[in-house]
Amino acid sequence: MNIILFGPPGAGKGTQSNKIVNLFNLHKVSTGDLLRQEAKNETILGDKIKLLIDKGSLVPDEIINNLIVNILLNKSLFNRLIFDGYPRTLSQAKTLDQLLNNHNQKISCVLSLEVDEKIVIKRILGRQTCTKCGLIFNKYFNPSTKSNHSCDSKFLDKRSDDNEETVLERYKTYIEKTLPILDFYKDQNLLHQINGDDDINQIFEEIRAIITSLEA
Ligand code: AMP
Repeated sequence: MNIILFGPPGAGKGTQSNKIVNLFNLHKVSTGDLLRQEAKNETILGDKIKLLIDKGSLVPDEIINNLIVNILLNKSLFNRLIFDGYPRTLSQAKTLDQLLNNHNQKISCVLSLEVDEKIVIKRILGRQTCTKCGLIFNKYFNPSTKSNHSCDSKFLDKRSDDNEETVLERYKTYIEKTLPILDFYKDQNLLHQINGDDDINQIFEEIRAIITSLEA
């Protein structure tokens, strides 16, 4: 099965997709993570990507499509993908359908995490990612502790685009360019809307039940 995790920046897509990957043995495709990796390489392409990310703008579709094609060419990931932060435009959503079709696959469901704007902004400003294990924490809502995280706290990192100015731009981009995709998936009866304001484990329970019902 292939799943899309949809929602505004800071909705908890990364946190939930890490949990889904572990339970259902899926492979997470976070275009944001792939782009940050490219940006670290300090190539001409990487520098261009970093500028766009730090402004809160979208990276051009052509770059994103190349990332996805490479994933679909990997046969070991056949039909076990969870997309986090992709697609981000209607054009990306349509391209994804085509690419999946070319590889004899399709989207099984779209899980939309719906969260109030004020909450997402607070979540983003407190977000910390462990550069060693990839787990995501929040210094206000879900701090890293000895019982939920085994790496040293020195690995906790704040993303360069998680600042007040960029967050507002990212939210605006989401409303203008990404939110319209929901109707595209609603029309295909693929959409499940989930209250993303709830507690992490409660949200995951809801997601687990939906995915389990798809497997039946
Ligand atoms: P994320 O980690 O999903 O919050 O993405 C961080 C940033 O990477 C976004 O603000 C965009 O600049 C860029 N990005 C991530 N995914 C995409 C995408 N599918 N299309 C265009 N830009 C993207």
